[in-house]
Amino acid sequence: MNTLERLDASLPLPNEERMLLASVQKIARTQIAPRAENCDRNAEFPWDNIKAINALGLNAMFIPEAYGGAPMSYSAYLACVREIAKACASTGIIWATNFHAIKPVITFGSEEQKQRLLPRVAEGGLASLVITEADAGSDATGMKTRFEPQGDDILVSGSKIFITSGDVADLLLVFGKWSEIAEAKSAISALVVEKGTPGLSVLRTEDKLGHRASSTAALSFDNCRVPRANLLGKPGDGLNILLASLNKSRPSVAAHALGIARGAFEDAIAYINDRQQSGRRVIEFQGIQFMLADLASELALCERWLWHVGALVDAGVDDMGIEASMLKMRATDLAMRMATDAVQLYGGYGYCKDYRVERLLRDAKITQIWEGTNQVQRQLIGRSFMKKAGA
Ligand SMILES: Cc1cc2nc3c(=O)[nH]c(=O)nc-3n(C[C@H](O)[C@H](O)[C@H](O)COP(=O)(O)OP(=O)(O)OC[C@H]3O[C@@H](n4cnc5c(N)ncnc54)[C@H](O)[C@@H]3O)c2cc1C
Repeated sequence: MNTLERLDASLPLPNEERMLLASVQKIARTQIAPRAENCDRNAEFPWDNIKAINALGLNAMFIPEAYGGAPMSYSAYLACVREIAKACASTGIIWATNFHAIKPVITFGSEEQKQRLLPRVAEGGLASLVITEADAGSDATGMKTRFEPQGDDILVSGSKIFITSGDVADLLLVFGKWSEIAEAKSAISALVVEKGTPGLSVLRTEDKLGHRASSTAALSFDNCRVPRANLLGKPGDGLNILLASLNKSRPSVAAHALGIARGAFEDAIAYINDRQQSGRRVIEFQGIQFMLADLASELALCERWLWHVGALVDAGVDDMGIEASMLKMRATDLAMRMATDAVQLYGGYGYCKDYRVERLLRDAKITQIWEGTNQVQRQLIGRSFMKKAGA
């Protein structure tokens, strides 16, 4: 057993979760991975992969039993994200986004909202997390989307960009500002918009470097009338909901990035054990061994930290935002470095589309940008050690 296999085996999942993970590994290997190249090449939404995931009932693992789910641990969820992303990063982020968008409904939704909305996701519905606007990215508090109460409804107006699954989602968790609250941060609120609501339209989908099979939509809300029953919490609860949800989604995007990193590492190792130059296998060159030593050590440490953060969440620790930021930053920087070095190890062949590492390099880049860029993560981590002036 090598170091990374021992690390995988050390994840303390109960039997039932191990069995589910084995099923996910099987569909990842036999169905999702074989479709990845074609979906990437044609920028084609991977509906067959979504069907395979739903045939396993995988969304149910993060939905409470009372609402049609079959809940499992957060660590098991992270392990599934990693496996799916390793097979196809696009499918991985589509599935993970269901969790990112619906977790706030589980945590902050009313009983009525949970009864009404969660079974739809448990049964395989797609969900989107809708925060970013053209002029409000890293600083989401600058968002301008307006929520205006009108009797039993809320009128939503504004536009959003870069929304994963925004054109196909059944439920969209949308953040905007409550028109009756003046202060910018206190006005942020969250509500669920259902697919097909009049006034909601897709402006375009982006033509991207990587994650080409996952759709990334610009959305318009033109006096979109949403029942007030879809407001999460109270007007002005949005920032709190947003920050709490990022704490749970950042480890998830880190698991996704580590899937890409693990895939790139495994491909590169297989290749350089086989490829010969100057009468020797490439892996026999000391310069290459030094590269591998750095990459493998960083991968092992990031994976260990992934399971550490997963265990914190499973133990009910909520103030793990800095651990989550450290994980997101290191895992995604590693994914980019690993994919870049994997291409290097393949030489010129790595730069061509015949090998998967070319796609992994394109898929890795966004992981350093979304869910808070790595500059923002560094700022959050560094700032957390700052003593209050005068303290
Ligand atoms: C493929 C894709 C999928 C996405 N999916 C979603 C989604 O599902 N839902 C959603 O809401 N959003 C989504 N996003 C948006 C994503 O989260 C934002 O792109 C990201 O937060 C960065 O915002 P921005 O693009 O406006 O960049 P900016 O905020 O304009 O950043 C530009 C540069 O400035 C730097 N910068 C900004 N602020 C600071 C600072 N304080 N200190 C140091 N440097 C700083 C950034 O690090 C970056 O390098 C997605 C984006 C893409 C491309």
